Amino acid sequence: MKLDVLAIGSHPDDVELGCGGTLALLAQRGLKVGILHLTRGEAGTRGTVEERRTEAQAAATSLGVAEIEFLDCGDGALRTGPEEEDALIGVLRRFRPDLILGPTPSDRHPDHGRAHRLVAAASYYAGLKGRGESAPYRPAAVFSYMQHDPFEPSFIVDVSATWEVKMEALAAYASQLHQPGSRRDEPPTKVASPEFRAAVVGRAQHYGLLVGAAYGEPFWSRLPLAVADPWALLPGGPR
Ligand SMILES: [Zn+2]
Repeated sequence: MKLDVLAIGSHPDDVELGCGGTLALLAQRGLKVGILHLTRGEAGTRGTVEERRTEAQAAATSLGVAEIEFLDCGDGALRTGPEEEDALIGVLRRFRPDLILGPTPSDRHPDHGRAHRLVAAASYYAGLKGRGESAPYRPAAVFSYMQHDPFEPSFIVDVSATWEVKMEALAAYASQLHQPGSRRDEPPTKVASPEFRAAVVGRAQHYGLLVGAAYGEPFWSRLPLAVADPWALLPGGPR
């Protein structure tokens, strides 16, 4: 299947936390959206690989995602060598997404920065006909979503309309994220704390406030963005 958008994350739940509202928004407007998890989350403190796969599938269904894929780049020591590049190039050439949403160049979890470099390299090399056997293809744009470390956004997507859908997708990750009223006998982690859940909401409200929205998801672009119609940038749309 040809995809319009492919969101790529290091671990199951990264993409949903970073840009779940945006993915739901794009899916609702009829675009074909896919999610690629670069690892199976096998090094996680909580949850098994099978559990996380089931959770990822349920989360993708909530967001209206058409395709979900996993690579095995190594959770906790994410590999970025030629083998992993080839695997990702294969995925990009198979799905031919126009837009890639991926991790930032550096973040608290080192796997995220490594994944950024892998995504940037594979997105470029996929366009070279000298690299591998399959037909070359290069995505038109690669943007980064926010995870732990804040950055100055290149743009913010108003996700107020799909905020509840995002929270529903996050609720699918019962092994990873705190759910009000639930109890699990597993070691506490920062991500599984009630404070983390509150911070997810608070951060979206913070970035939403900056653009006059209830909830916002910030993105970073390495390159400046071209604007065909500056009038379309007026808050609330053209008058
Ligand atoms: Zn992660």
